[in-house]
Amino acid sequence: MAEKLNSRQLKVPVTNLLKRVFSKEKFSANLDITVGEQGLVETSDRGDFRLEVWLESSPDGIRVKGRLAGSVVMECTRCLEGYRQDLDIPVDEFYRRPGLGALGADGRQVPGPEVEEEDEYVVEEGVIDLNILVNDAVMLGLPIKRLCSEECKGLCQYCGSNLNLEQCDCRGEDIDPRLEVLRTLLERDSEE
Ligand SMILES: [Zn+2]
Ligand SMILES: [Zn+2]
Repeated sequence: MAEKLNSRQLKVPVTNLLKRVFSKEKFSANLDITVGEQGLVETSDRGDFRLEVWLESSPDGIRVKGRLAGSVVMECTRCLEGYRQDLDIPVDEFYRRPGLGALGADGRQVPGPEVEEEDEYVVEEGVIDLNILVNDAVMLGLPIKRLCSEECKGLCQYCGSNLNLEQCDCRGEDIDPRLEVLRTLLERDSEE
C-alpha cells in the first residue's frame, strides 16, 4: 500500500514566525512526486515540482499562500505506463494554532474552541506540515483524464501488449466492430 506524502523538507518550523505576528517569510521546496492510488508518494528529494509560498504570521496561525508548479509522475489509465503531468496550482491555506481563540476586549488571547480531530491544518509543536497542503492541492488539481496522450492506444485486451510500442497479432485486432457484435450473438446462440 502506498504511503501518504511525508517529506521531511515539508515540515516547517514556525516558532520564530509565530512570535513575530504579522511578519512573513518565504518558503520553497523542490519535490519529485509520483501520484499513487492512495495519494502522493515522494520518489526523491530533488525534482522539478516546486512549492513556493509565503508564510504569514497572524495571531491565530499561519497563512500559506503561493503556488505549486512543475510536473508529477502519473500512471496512464489506458496503457499503465508512467508519464509526466504538468501542473500549476495556486495554494492558499491557513494553519491554525490549536487552543487559541480571538483576542479578548483586554487584548489578551482567550481560549478558543478545541481543534476538531479531522482538521489537519494545525500548527503542531511549532511546526506546520505542508505535506497535507501539497497532497490535497495536487489530488484536487489533477485532471480527471489520466492519459499519457489523447492518442494513447492502450493495451491489447488479449495479450496485454502496449499498442503504442508494438503491434501484436491477436485475433480481434482487425475485426470490424459490427462483425464482432454479430459473432458474439452467434456464439451465444450456439451455446443455448
Ligand atoms: Zn497511455
Ligand atoms: Zn495482442
